[in-house]
Amino acid sequence: MHNKPVAVVTGASSGIGAETVRLLCENGYLVFMGARRLDRLQALAEKYSAIPIVLDVSSAESVHRFTEELPDSVQVLVNNAGGALGLEQVAEFDEAHWLEMYQSNVLGLARMTKALYPRLLSRPNPVSHVFNIGSVASFETYPGGAGYTACKHAVRAISETMRLEWLGKPIRVTEIDPGFVETEFSLVRFGGDVARASSVYAGMVPLTATDIAETILWSISRPPHVNIDVMVVRPLDQARIDKIHREA
Ligand code: NAP
Repeated sequence: MHNKPVAVVTGASSGIGAETVRLLCENGYLVFMGARRLDRLQALAEKYSAIPIVLDVSSAESVHRFTEELPDSVQVLVNNAGGALGLEQVAEFDEAHWLEMYQSNVLGLARMTKALYPRLLSRPNPVSHVFNIGSVASFETYPGGAGYTACKHAVRAISETMRLEWLGKPIRVTEIDPGFVETEFSLVRFGGDVARASSVYAGMVPLTATDIAETILWSISRPPHVNIDVMVVRPLDQARIDKIHREA
């Protein structure tokens, strides 16, 4: 039997999710991590004492199987799995890309929350905490970004609704909205095109996954009566989603 608080991180195989796992483990949490690439999770499990379980948040069945493996005492849920696919304008939108983005960023978040809500509610000790990883795309738009920004705008709407529906219950809801973070995000968006992905960060200093994972740790460590609703974190070189300062 362990007596550590239990945290669940989705999309833990890379980037922000993997760093969040590391920091949670280092701060005394027992972490269950989910993603589709089990080999990546297993490599993380060798470094930190976190538990890897395969998870595809776009599948209701996979979410069910994942949550069946979790203990009753889940206290923190980090809804991080997601990302962007493509950069097509609305008039040429790619239906498969949009469907996949909605499945992971929006429906996946809702599936995980629904599955774990009874546990979050029953073992608050003294409060539980749900994190939704939004983006500056949760409130800004850019040409070619509609599929992704619409998903993240939905994350904003869902986070606000959770706070309304759970008013009076011991569950905090925090949305973290990063600007550019250098992870595998752009590589995934551009189908593995390394040159195109790295051009996103050319001449500017992006955030690191650690910068974002630290905001999660900080929000959890507030006194139980404090809820950090939304935290927007950008690189100094990014004034708006599409306004970047780049050195020549
Ligand atoms: P990343 O390095 O590409 O990580 C994305 C993670 O999500 C991976 O672990 C991936 O794992 C997982 N994932 C994707 N689809 C999934 C699915 N259907 N089921 C389970 N896991 C899934 O990118 P990141 O930057 O860390 O992204 C994390 C979150 O931050 C995303 O929600 C993203 O939209 C958001 N965000 C990123 C940035 C940025 O600039 N990087 C800015 C704002 C917000 P598998 O492929 O192994 O499943």
